[in-house]
This record gives sequence, C-alpha cells and structure tokens, in this order.
Amino acid sequence: MGDLDRMDGGPRSAIVVGAGIVGLSTAWFLQERGVRVTVVDRAGIAAGSSWGNAGWLSPGLSIPLNEPAVLRYGLRSLLDRQAPLHVPATPDPRLWQFLARFAANCTNRSWTRAVRANLPFNEECLEAFDVLTSNGVEAPTIDAPITAMFETAGQAQALVAELNRLGDAGQPVSWTRLSGPALRERFPQVTDRIGAGIRIDGQRYVDPGRFAEALARAVVSRGGTIRHRFDVAAVRRHDHAYTVQSSNGRTVNANAVVLATGAWLGGLARKWGVRVPVRAGRGYSFTVPTDQPVPGPIYLPDIRVACTPYQGGLRVAGTMEFREPDDPLYPARVNAIIASARPLLKGLRWEERTDTWVGSRPVTADGRPVIGETGAPGLYVAGGHGMWGLTHSAVTGRLLAEQITTGKQPEALRPFDPLR
Ligand SMILES: Cc1cc2nc3c(=O)[nH]c(=O)nc-3n(C[C@H](O)[C@H](O)[C@H](O)COP(=O)(O)OP(=O)(O)OC[C@H]3O[C@@H](n4cnc5c(N)ncnc54)[C@H](O)[C@@H]3O)c2cc1C
Repeated sequence: MGDLDRMDGGPRSAIVVGAGIVGLSTAWFLQERGVRVTVVDRAGIAAGSSWGNAGWLSPGLSIPLNEPAVLRYGLRSLLDRQAPLHVPATPDPRLWQFLARFAANCTNRSWTRAVRANLPFNEECLEAFDVLTSNGVEAPTIDAPITAMFETAGQAQALVAELNRLGDAGQPVSWTRLSGPALRERFPQVTDRIGAGIRIDGQRYVDPGRFAEALARAVVSRGGTIRHRFDVAAVRRHDHAYTVQSSNGRTVNANAVVLATGAWLGGLARKWGVRVPVRAGRGYSFTVPTDQPVPGPIYLPDIRVACTPYQGGLRVAGTMEFREPDDPLYPARVNAIIASARPLLKGLRWEERTDTWVGSRPVTADGRPVIGETGAPGLYVAGGHGMWGLTHSAVTGRLLAEQITTGKQPEALRPFDPLR
C-alpha cells in the first residue's frame, strides 16, 4: 500500500463508483484538485438515470419532491393505474417503510428545509456547468426558458403558488404568464386545449447522454481511468486506503472512495453508517419526431410530463414509479404518458417513437440528497438527488471534491450530511 500513503492536504488517489453524471462530475473536480481518479461502473457511462432524463438544468424548478400536495396527489394516484405516480401493490416492507417516511416528510416544515438547503446549489449550479464546458468538456448547455402549459388559468395557479412559496423560502424565480394564443404563436405543437402558460426564465438544457460522454472523455484526457463492467461487490478499508472489489474478483486500490451509484446507493453505503434510505423513483422517456422544430422545453405539470428538444425531435419524459431499479420497462407506463400528452400537443409522430427508456431517480425520504463523508474516514457518498440530479451534479462534484481534499465540510453540504 506504500503508493497509497495519504498526502498532507488530502488523498493522492480516489475511486469513484458509478459513472453517472454525479460520479463523473466528482471525478472531474477531484482531478482539478490534483487527485488521481479511477471511475468504475457495473455497465458503462451514463448507464443509469443520467442517460434518458429530460436534460433540464433548471434551478428555477428544482423543487424538492416532498411537497404536502404530493402526498394528497399520491394517495389519489394509488387508486388510478394510469396516474403519473405509480406504486405497485407489493408486499415489500422496505418500500412501504420508505413511503411512510416520505409521507411524514411531506410537511411545509420539511419541504421548506429542503428548499433552503438547495439554495446555494441552485445559485451555483449553472456556473459549475460553465466551469466544465470552459475547461474541456465538449458538449453545449443551451440557454432557454422552460414553458409550463395548462388547460386553464386556474390550473396554472398551482404552479404560481409553488413558485411564490419558493420565493418566500428565499429562492427568487423569474416567471411570466402567457395566454393560449401567445403559446401557440411560439410553439406550433400546442393544441387548442392549452389555455394558459408560465414561462420560467434563466434555465438551460443539455443532451444528457452526450454531456455525460463528453465529461467522461474529459476525465480520461486528464489522466483518469474509467473501467466498464466493474460491478462493485465490496469495499474494504485498510490504513489510509481502500480496496474496491468487483463481483468477479477484480480489485482497485486508492486512498479515498466515492460511492455515486444513484438509486443503487443504499446497498453499498448502509454498511458504512449511511441510514438515509435511497429508493428508485423510476421515470420513462422516449423520442418522437416532430413535424416542426420545437423552440424549447415544454413542461406539462398536470400530467407530470417534461419535453425537451432532442436530436431534431422531442424527448418526452414522465412518470414516477416506485419499483426496484433493475425491474424491466413496463410499456403500459409509456402508453399512459402518450395518452395524457396527445390531446395537448400536435405535430408529434407518437407511433414513430424511438429510444424508449426507463431510469431510476435516486429518491430520499426527506427531499435532500446525501453528499459527504460516511462513518469511515476517506469513504464518501454522493447521490439521492431525486428529480434534480443533473441540475445539481456539477455543483455536487465541486463541493464534494473540496471536502475530500481539504478535510473540511463546506457549509453548503451540511444539510446533506449522509450521517444525518
Ligand atoms: C425520466 C427522468 C427525467 C429526469 N429529468 C431530469 C432533468 O430534466 N433535470 C435533472 O436535473 N434531473 C432529471 N432527472 C434526474 C436525474 O436523471 C438523476 O437525478 C441523475 O441522473 C442521478 O445521477 P447519478 O449519477 O446519481 O445516478 P445514475 O445516473 O443512476 O448513475 C449511477 C451509476 O452507478 C452505477 N452502479 C450502480 N451500482 C453499481 C455497482 N455496484 N458497481 C458499479 N457501478 C454501479 C450504475 O450503472 C450507474 O451508471 C430525471 C430522471 C428521470 C428518470
């Protein structure tokens, strides 16, 4: 282990487990601070939630999931198999325990706490992406407002109230009301059913798979190693060092380890004192060709669908399904998304859809991610960002790399302490 002696001021080397957007960002920012990194993934780059998501970098909409209204909505959804929120009738006691904890956190107090905890993240997240793209990550982030659309002005009121609550909690969001005709003038895809909209300014979007691949290339070009098909089965601690072992017996050693395994985080992290449960909130997406270009992201809050211009067509994403992350894709969920969105959008060739995908948002019960050191010195976790892990990935990597190399927990990471 001689090569692994801890240097003054931080570790010489680190293994990042998980080549999703959070793990890759952490690897990149560790390199920025002179740490030699090896990233391992049981599959490959962006094999989890980081590939098929909606691609929004949207600090203005990074609203924690544990809103009181979500609880009421969730209870109604239990009776409706087509609802965007789906909890299968399963005897899994761990899932029901998690949902009970989640429900207990759907209070104004807990939600406001999560909003306040996110404030520094929302303030810095776009700038952290700029650091990446100005320093060799060759994938664009595109400035665009996100336009939320509703059938009636009354329905828009729920989002207005939510944005006002965000403002009251300290997060100002710049937004403008739009009429149905104004929406149709800008978006040829909007049908007559849409009667009101809200434009949320100052947001961006990316092609998430392409961004993750560019980030991975940058990590490699700066001297990092990425090992595919390395399914981590065990992490063992020695003096000042760790060995990470794959399920088929391969090993890698380093001074520090970061577990960034998304919805799979619980399995490996629990052993090291992390009691915050992380469950898979699975979402679906697919790409449809469009008759005319779509000028920017479209949000349909009432049916919980997010649409983003993607490779000349439109990526359509939605659903929150509490199943195991490795369960198969259920085509019925895709059909439910299409059935709910079809009356609201036109000029989309739904039958020619491609890239049908399911991925797992890593969801925590209190709406806050888990980022920081575990009960074992030198072993860290980064995950549990739920709906907003892409938006908050770069800033997570930057702050965690600071903690790992200085040994001091940045103030902004305090609310996300994995040992809370
Ligand atoms: C439909 C949908 C839409 C979304 N839209 C947005 C959006 O617009 N904006 C936004 O900010 N967020 C969005 N999200 C959320 C976002 O995608 C996630 O929060 C984010 O991708 C999580 O990244 P991650 O790196 O933590 O996890 P992941 O991307 O899931 O990466 C985890 C990685 O760990 C690997 N792994 C797991 N176990 C092991 C093991 N034992 N050994 C080795 N490797 C392992 C996996 O293979 C995987 O590659 C969306 C999510 C979904 C599902």
